[in-house]
Amino acid sequence: MADTQLMTIPGHIDPVPLPRPDLVEGVTPRADGRTDLIGLPKKRIAELFATAGLDAKQAKLRAKQVFHWLYHRGVTDFAEMTDIAKTMRPWLAERFVIGRPEIVEAQHSTDGTRKWLLRTPDGHDFEMVFIPDADRGTLCVSSQVGCTLNCRFCHTGTMRLVRNLTVGEIVGQVMLARDSLGEWPKGGDAAALGTRTGLDDDEDEGSYTSDGRLLTNIVMMGMGEPLYNFDNVRDALKLVMDGDGLALSKRRITLSTSGVVPKMAQCGEEIGVNLAVSLHAVTKDVRDEIVPINRKYGIEELLQACADYPGASNARRITFEYVMLKDKNDSDDDARELVRLIKHYKLPAKVNLIPFNPWPGAPYECSTPERIRRFSDIVFEAGISAPVRTPRGRDIDAACGQLKTAAEKKSRAELDRLYEEKQAALAD
Ligand code: SAH
Ligand code: SF4
Repeated sequence: MADTQLMTIPGHIDPVPLPRPDLVEGVTPRADGRTDLIGLPKKRIAELFATAGLDAKQAKLRAKQVFHWLYHRGVTDFAEMTDIAKTMRPWLAERFVIGRPEIVEAQHSTDGTRKWLLRTPDGHDFEMVFIPDADRGTLCVSSQVGCTLNCRFCHTGTMRLVRNLTVGEIVGQVMLARDSLGEWPKGGDAAALGTRTGLDDDEDEGSYTSDGRLLTNIVMMGMGEPLYNFDNVRDALKLVMDGDGLALSKRRITLSTSGVVPKMAQCGEEIGVNLAVSLHAVTKDVRDEIVPINRKYGIEELLQACADYPGASNARRITFEYVMLKDKNDSDDDARELVRLIKHYKLPAKVNLIPFNPWPGAPYECSTPERIRRFSDIVFEAGISAPVRTPRGRDIDAACGQLKTAAEKKSRAELDRLYEEKQAALAD
């Protein structure tokens, strides 16, 4: 048998992983010597308060209060933390900051979709997208700048530089989305936090019901492979799910993986969110070509890991994402094989059919609408839900796999320059 491990995919560049900023116990060092609290769990905040001079009991109490202000109320200024003594607030502000990713650009699509181009403190651009629907609002969150995996139809896979986002940069996206949507609960003390027009009914309560919220769901489907940044994604999602903080239910969070099999069980056990799997093909040849991680973890292994996924049930089905590529993976036989595989592994599954979003230089075309409908019908007639995902935000390049398209044009030169500088520094 040929050694497919060594095969390269023409047209793709090997990505260069960049080191994360020099984290010191989860904290990104800042030039001003202060510590950004966003991304830190309550216990760690208490430790930092103790190191800064509070006694253990005080540190624990203050950490609990500050945590609530950070993640439940969304304040970005210690001065607004009204249940903390007035003298204590400047003490905090001297030592700590409440950070957010920098917004480079915010775009609003005609269909309501919003896209933000964000920047890390060390100058890397990444994106997040908000997609409002009638009954929900979904935030698509990035886990890495770029991706190491080179799926052939995905534009993110063509980016040369890759850096894992930190816990703060991941949870910071959710915080920023809440800022922009004006979605923090307002108590009487926090009247300056901004309002949501037309949705004020429950604001006086100081908390939201999910049906009053704009941002109700999170999908880890932005840039990057979340299971290749497991620890940070886990810690960020724990902050998102924390009942004292953002308090989003794990049922409203979905993590999408291209199939990092060895991390899937751990994902179910330690994070417990819904799982989406980027299957995209049902034969070894085709999946090897379009999702190259298949050469390492094949379809059978992947589907077995899905069957074993902790928490999967008919009530919490696994989503199989399937990008529709013309004459590549879209035949009737492909649809029938997909059904056979799902049944063979007895998977509680639904299938999301994603029309391929082309990008300049992409080696594929999208299947015709008729073909997609026929494919969907075959799967549906076998008793498996197979909706076709409507592309959203196309006018602002917000659709799947398009993230970073526009940003790339602007910042590629800059990223390349940074990379060259890094190489030069290493050579010195
Ligand atoms: N790395 C993870 C999550 C991010 S990609 C994963 O691969 O699952 C999110 C989804 O967008 C994946 O299903 C991916 O296959 C899909 N996608 C990527 N590029 C696309 C494109 N050009 N058109 C349609 N879907 C695309
Ligand atoms: Fe990475 Fe997902 Fe794109 Fe594949 S589809 S290159 S895993 S972001």
